[in-house]
Amino acid sequence: MSIVAPMIETSSDQVTRRTDIRNIAIIAHVDHGKTSLVDCLIKHSGMFRDNQKMQEFMLDSNDIERERGITILAKNIAMMYEGVRVNIIDTPGHADFGGEVERVLKMADGALLLVDAFEGPRPQTRFVLQKALENGLKLMVVINKIDRPDCRPDEVLSKTFDLLVELGADDETLDFPYIFTSAKEGYAVHDPSQKSGDIRPLMDMVLEKIPGPPVRPDDPLQLMVTSLEWSKYVGRIATGRIAAGKVRTGQQIALMKKDGSVVKTKVDQVQLFDNLGRTDAEGASAGDIVALIGLPEPAIGDTVADVEQPVALERVEVDEPTLSMK
Ligand code: GDP
Repeated sequence: MSIVAPMIETSSDQVTRRTDIRNIAIIAHVDHGKTSLVDCLIKHSGMFRDNQKMQEFMLDSNDIERERGITILAKNIAMMYEGVRVNIIDTPGHADFGGEVERVLKMADGALLLVDAFEGPRPQTRFVLQKALENGLKLMVVINKIDRPDCRPDEVLSKTFDLLVELGADDETLDFPYIFTSAKEGYAVHDPSQKSGDIRPLMDMVLEKIPGPPVRPDDPLQLMVTSLEWSKYVGRIATGRIAAGKVRTGQQIALMKKDGSVVKTKVDQVQLFDNLGRTDAEGASAGDIVALIGLPEPAIGDTVADVEQPVALERVEVDEPTLSMK
């Protein structure tokens, strides 16, 4: 059997992109509603019906994160919306995890910048926004908490615009699409005086405004290991976005290490993100975010490359998170 062929389209900028995927990062200052928004999207897509998966997801989350109630380590979830797989890449909002932010943003083509409709942009808004701009992500602004009686959505939108000007955003970025939400009450609207509905307008905007990943299926395989997990059943699980080429279950690959050494090995299993968990796949191609099982001692920053023509991706040198936050 073969890998399902990705759906593609060539856009006006002559870049051929996948139309069956969106890779988006959600970025925000702490407490502006990232977790609530992701929960709302999860509820909307009906994932809670699958209790088993939900339980696994809970168990997967980081203990410290659960204790402190803030997001530290990036997690991926995927949801199917209108036939498109939307990979949602959660990013830490805390500046102590700057390196982690940098790394996970490399998996995304677009960023949803979430700003509290009362508080407006805060220091971490600025920090993550700058990183998103540096990484060339297509920006979409989400003004959240419009159900708050004291909210001032239009003022906050204009402050967000000012911040982008200050950060030197180009004209195209300054023309960003925006939407207003109540993640708590579960709706997204184009006019903040209207306070009802569901979250679909936000997802529609993601499909319309965030580009699909560029396609390079015929190039040699390249994927940077962006995060690692461990499972007592299968051992280390390396996650990353396929930058170029394809990878299949059972394929021989070259694992390119930091010290320059190259380990030739086999991928035991390719998995795609699926709702709150992962499902086995025969293979995947450029633009997909995958989990690879069976790599010997993968490390963050390693490149998984074509076994015949191994070329390493540029490493993102980052400080590992120190878990000593207040
Ligand atoms: P995170 O730190 O960005 O993940 O923020 P959370 O999703 O944990 O939200 C922080 C606080 O804001 C919580 O008390 C949420 O209940 C509240 N919150 C999030 N979204 C909304 C919203 O749309 N409206 C209101 N009123 N509160 C919200």
